[in-house]
Amino acid sequence: MLTDKFGRQITDLRVSVTDRCNFRCIYCRASEPENYQPPEHLLSWPELERLCGILGRLGLRKIRVTGGEPLVRPGVEEFIARLAALGLYDDIAITTNGYTLAEKAPTLKAAGLNRVNVSLDSLRPERFDRITRTRGALKRVLAGIEAAQAGGLDPVKVNAVIVRGFNDDEISDFARFARHRGLVMRFIEFMPLDADHIWDRTRVVPAAEMRRGLEAAGLPLEELPRHYASETALRYRFADGGPGEIGLVAPVSEPFCGKCSRIRLTADGKIRTCLFSQFDHDLRGLLRAGAPESEVTAEVERIVEMKEDGHHINDPDFVPPNRTMVFIGG
Ligand code: SAM
Ligand code: SF4
Repeated sequence: MLTDKFGRQITDLRVSVTDRCNFRCIYCRASEPENYQPPEHLLSWPELERLCGILGRLGLRKIRVTGGEPLVRPGVEEFIARLAALGLYDDIAITTNGYTLAEKAPTLKAAGLNRVNVSLDSLRPERFDRITRTRGALKRVLAGIEAAQAGGLDPVKVNAVIVRGFNDDEISDFARFARHRGLVMRFIEFMPLDADHIWDRTRVVPAAEMRRGLEAAGLPLEELPRHYASETALRYRFADGGPGEIGLVAPVSEPFCGKCSRIRLTADGKIRTCLFSQFDHDLRGLLRAGAPESEVTAEVERIVEMKEDGHHINDPDFVPPNRTMVFIGG
């Protein structure tokens, strides 16, 4: 079992399989330029599989495939199947913008995917276009959510990043959507990880305010126990026992760093020990130099020792990381 110097067990791996994306969400990517890494910088599928095997043998148990947009990289379904075949991970999940999920959900499920999180930041078509800088994509994302539910990916979680002045007036619409569809709807506080640097504290809607807004809209909630200690979301059900669940993810107003069990692997083969780390730790060089598993394992253990105590977003001297969410893997 991998444990850091603060005694936190590291059990969750987020793997970014690409820095590319077919959306340009205003809270994530820059409006321009593309800024993608050259393809040879990205880990190949066999390199990713080897690293995931090594990390699984080190004790990581949950894996989330992300990006950029993971479903734009050809071969992602086969990669999921190879992850499942490793037999090391109890839980294989993906985070996607849902644009191609309707076509891919059945193959992903058959490959061994357990769960999916779909990002959805507005239920209003024009606003959805404005936030994602796309045209007419909302209906595809909604179809993707439906296909994932119909295909037995369970639970389907829908994630909305709430940005004040952009979509904070839709929180109760989202909650009703979750009730109607029997979904887990998670509201995420906006974090300083956007390429266009629009983040400031006034744009963050704290989780407590979201909860008050839901109660004021006639949707009182009851807290549910966490599934496990390092779960990022505060979980609620509707007080009247209706279907659906609400999650509030509050990294800014109620940081959960003390229970963090995550490390991240970027698409170009770096380990990040925190979303807000100031440094990456390269594994690609070791892999490409033909390092044996024992050497890679020792390097991962050394890196985990350096995991930060927390993100320090709320410190006066906080400095955002040099990589934005699309290049880290959310
Ligand atoms: N493209 C996929 C998607 O959008 O679901 C996966 C990658 S995306 C970087 C992963 C998650 O990070 C998404 O749920 C997205 O909403 C979230 N995210 C991106 N930028 C964020 C920010 N500045 N603050 C909070 N969450 C953010
Ligand atoms: Fe792409 Fe996801 Fe970032 Fe939106 S949040 S730009 S879909 S990576």
